[in-house]
Amino acid sequence: MRLDKILDALFPATCVACNAPQAGLCASCLPPPEAAQRFRLGSLRVCTLGTYDGPLREAVLVFKHGRRDVGGALAAALNVRFGKELTARLTLVPVPTTSARRAERGFDQGAFLARELGGRSGLGVLELLRQTAGDAQHGRSRVARLAARERFRCTAPELARGLRAILVDDVVTTGATLRDCRAILESAGARVVLAVAAARAL
Ligand SMILES: [Zn+2]
Repeated sequence: MRLDKILDALFPATCVACNAPQAGLCASCLPPPEAAQRFRLGSLRVCTLGTYDGPLREAVLVFKHGRRDVGGALAAALNVRFGKELTARLTLVPVPTTSARRAERGFDQGAFLARELGGRSGLGVLELLRQTAGDAQHGRSRVARLAARERFRCTAPELARGLRAILVDDVVTTGATLRDCRAILESAGARVVLAVAAARAL
């Protein structure tokens, strides 16, 4: 039996916001449909469940630190809220976290969210992006810094070619990350038609 299953049995999960005996985020703590955010970053359409505050913020924070049931609840809510956008022939591509953070936390929340959303929506998931390690900003020439803006690389350009992709992330802040990920995928021949995230930080 896996450790997380044993822990779940010993400490049944409760709603992160109100402690109701329901895993993840209970129905009354989920952002209501009218809280959903639909906006554009440049020409990229973005959908989130709500803004990064209140119970949604708490949910994202505990999810980042490993509460998989909360990630499942967020993915389920994304699937219900944006089911119409998650149409066939689109492929979910998670925004990756750094390998250092993945090692520290034991999982990659973007990839987890994408897999949970894929399982619910029936869309395929391809983990095509890797974040290049290290802090690129220190001790480098201007040219090197500009090059380092490409913080991501595509691990399988042959799979990206012709793909119609949806980027999946936990929180959208400035949109710089989504822009970089989109640029990398599109330079490999994909088209990024949408980004979905749990929350939008304003
Ligand atoms: Zn609740």
